[in-house]
Amino acid sequence: MKERSIIHVDMDAFYAAVEQRDNPELKGKPVIIGGPDPTKRGVVATASYEARQFGVHSAMPLREAYKRCPHGVYLPVNMHKYQQASKHIFNIFQKFTPLVENISLDEAFLDVTGSRSLFGSSKSIAREIIDQIDKEVNLAASIGISYNKFLAKLASDLDKPKGFVVVSADNFYEVVHPLPVKRVWGVGKKMEQQLRAVGLKTIGDIASASLFSLKQQFGLAGEHIYALSHGIDNRPVIPNREAKSIGRETTFSVDISDRDVLYATLMQLVEDVSFRLRNSNCWCQCVTVKIRYACFNTYNRQTTLSQQINLETEIYSEARELFDSFYDGQPVRLIGVTLSHLKAEKEKQVELFGWENEKKQALAEAADRLRTKYGKPLVVRARGIKKD
Ligand SMILES: [Mg+2]
Repeated sequence: MKERSIIHVDMDAFYAAVEQRDNPELKGKPVIIGGPDPTKRGVVATASYEARQFGVHSAMPLREAYKRCPHGVYLPVNMHKYQQASKHIFNIFQKFTPLVENISLDEAFLDVTGSRSLFGSSKSIAREIIDQIDKEVNLAASIGISYNKFLAKLASDLDKPKGFVVVSADNFYEVVHPLPVKRVWGVGKKMEQQLRAVGLKTIGDIASASLFSLKQQFGLAGEHIYALSHGIDNRPVIPNREAKSIGRETTFSVDISDRDVLYATLMQLVEDVSFRLRNSNCWCQCVTVKIRYACFNTYNRQTTLSQQINLETEIYSEARELFDSFYDGQPVRLIGVTLSHLKAEKEKQVELFGWENEKKQALAEAADRLRTKYGKPLVVRARGIKKD
């Protein structure tokens, strides 16, 4: 099999960078996106690199961020603006390959194996992409290049911001094996502790462990991390129009039991997934909410709808209802939203009250057009932050 060329692009401090781009006064300052008032409830969506120096990072409650960085510039999430920038960036990717898998608004895998004859090596394609993003969108990205998805993603994270890291068969052992086990895709805090307990601290340690004992201790996950530690990952880059589901999750920096912070986070997740849904011209008929408690017990609840939806107001109300139906008040470690049963085009509904539905959809679409034109009204976002 021909060796693949995979590029992972990850924008640097994306939301904060867009705000700094649009307001030069913010350049060089600690900018924290998540809410205009850090004394209120909410969670940090993105912190600029200047803010990270004070220990502020995403998924941290705003109040904690404010303690660490009281002089920071606190701004609300302006999703409309980030979506515009994201669209522009994804259009640039499409010039180089149709095999683009978007992971979130600011992160994507590109399979450029077939593009090399046309555009040159994967390195020169990656440089061209960074150049175009810089010139046309005025933002910075970090790049990872390798022969599979796991290594490309790992590489893009090694030298942020403005990273440009290539992991090849030649430097694989030197670059990857000394890294801590938590860099392996799928190794969370709990598994990291378990691995450390049996003396496995680095990726190289996993590679030289016995597959048999890894399988015995971790089952399929053991097999999975063993393969990754040897640089084996055959997962294809799946362009999003073929995606079966669109999901996003957030792991909190500290466990959260404040419902308003959880609602605000749920809203941020819905904004991201619903944008990606609409961007791929899809509707969904199933919404799933995932909650992982501090004790690591994880629950998924899903609802299958009688009709297809794609507006964030509709998706949020389903997600919120699901969340309320099973959240029991314990501290939460992770929260996620996934949309599935995707359809490329909305199926015409023949119903008794078809006319009513059509009217509703027309209204919703008009609202969406307004939102695209003028930005999302604050009232929608406020619901994620304030008590109903
Ligand atoms: Mg990023």
